[in-house]
Amino acid sequence: MAHRYLIVGAGAAGIAAAETIREQDPGGDVLLLGEESHGYYSRPGLAYYLTGELPERQLFPFTERDFDRLRLRRLHARVAALQPQTHEVTLDDGRRLPYDRLLLATGSLAARPPLPGVDLDGVVKLDDMDDARRILKGCRRGRTAVVVGGGITALEIVEGLRARHVRTHYFLRGERYWGNVLDETESRIIENRLQEEGIQIHYHTELAEILGKRGRVAGVLTQDGHRIDCTLVAIAIGVRPRTELAEGAGLTIERGIQVDEYLQTSTPDVFAAGDAAQVFDPLSGKSVLDTLWGVAVTQGRIAGKNMAGQAIPYHKSVPFNVTRLAGLTTTIVGTVGRGPDKDLLGIARGDSETWRQLPDALVAQDAFEVNRLRILVGEGSLVGAIVMGDQTLSLPLYHLVAQQADITPVRDPLLEPSARLGDLIASFWADWRKGHAAA
Ligand SMILES: Cc1cc2nc3c(=O)[nH]c(=O)nc-3n(C[C@H](O)[C@H](O)[C@H](O)COP(=O)(O)OP(=O)(O)OC[C@H]3O[C@@H](n4cnc5c(N)ncnc54)[C@H](O)[C@@H]3O)c2cc1C
Repeated sequence: MAHRYLIVGAGAAGIAAAETIREQDPGGDVLLLGEESHGYYSRPGLAYYLTGELPERQLFPFTERDFDRLRLRRLHARVAALQPQTHEVTLDDGRRLPYDRLLLATGSLAARPPLPGVDLDGVVKLDDMDDARRILKGCRRGRTAVVVGGGITALEIVEGLRARHVRTHYFLRGERYWGNVLDETESRIIENRLQEEGIQIHYHTELAEILGKRGRVAGVLTQDGHRIDCTLVAIAIGVRPRTELAEGAGLTIERGIQVDEYLQTSTPDVFAAGDAAQVFDPLSGKSVLDTLWGVAVTQGRIAGKNMAGQAIPYHKSVPFNVTRLAGLTTTIVGTVGRGPDKDLLGIARGDSETWRQLPDALVAQDAFEVNRLRILVGEGSLVGAIVMGDQTLSLPLYHLVAQQADITPVRDPLLEPSARLGDLIASFWADWRKGHAAA
């Protein structure tokens, strides 16, 4: 009899797993369950949809023909419970579906602060396509918004609102933007750019209450007693892995669904991947969360292989994100920051806990107007880098960090006070690449 594979969540991890299972087991029965009516689309692309740079149709990486090629069964439904003892899931409508191997690729959801007024119409977040549409609708209704939170998503919302000509107040609890990943110069570069675009940043400012009128947002009250009238309040204070199914079934959970290096949960035949999974990393010996598209795809692929009978360990690679902060392309590689961020509860979207596991390293930095380069220099190799603006060195730095290139020849020059970091890295990279091509 054909193997029955069931995948809960039709996002990056779920689709990657389905593709891999199909390659590994051409006769297997693959059922993909997703609760979103929009199907599979690029979540990072939602930021560009909000600004109007990408039309909605360009967010969909798969055509119907791609799905046909994979010969999947797809069901638009929400899974309400998992029964590992009988190898079944129960859908919202009570239907029960059996599986031989199950993948939980359920993603993550924005955290909600327990604030008066948080349920009013006009309080928004940015998890999915419906949220993006809600924000756009909110832009048509009103001309003033308040955004609260840190990390990439808060800024993406701010930029979306600015692009739609909505007057935007951005509340920061602390003294600077994304303080546990960016250093002070980087935060200020971003904040200055936002201010130049007319965004009003309120430092040391916290929401006390969202005020309503006839069920709709009418304004906010800050903890120091100021009132701002607005019709939209966007909250991006971090995300939480969706663990409810796993929790209900008694699987081991910590911050996410715990899996071993084969992406297997604590229960036989149940795997987890993507934002929902807290994955063991044999190199650091820690279990960590990532909320990165590329990581979700890789984990989905490995889970798919293992569900189809292989035993491939997942080797966590150096987390890498190319994103845009206040219009400035920014690459974040390896470990670059540390400490808490007052604007986030744990992890945000497009983030990695690894970025903040800073080992002993010295900082080398260069800043020319908006082009900024910060490199974390370990004992024998580079451990992380942030590249803002000119991206010429972002891929070389990714490879040097990921492959733990021996930096002995360039370490001391890099740490000299007025080192020309860009030139040093570019010539080291050229030599290193030549050496590796020859090897
Ligand atoms: C606005 C935004 C910006 C981002 N920016 C970046 C970025 O710059 N770089 C980057 O690398 N990453 C970014 N990300 C993060 C990236 O999109 C995620 O890491 C990735 O989508 C995770 O994939 P996943 O498959 O684990 O989860 P998801 O893509 O979230 O898919 C999970 C799916 O499971 C469904 N589901 C959950 N529970 C159930 C259930 N019980 N029954 C049925 N279906 C269920 C959900 O509805 C969802 O469709 C961003 C995300 C957002 C939203």
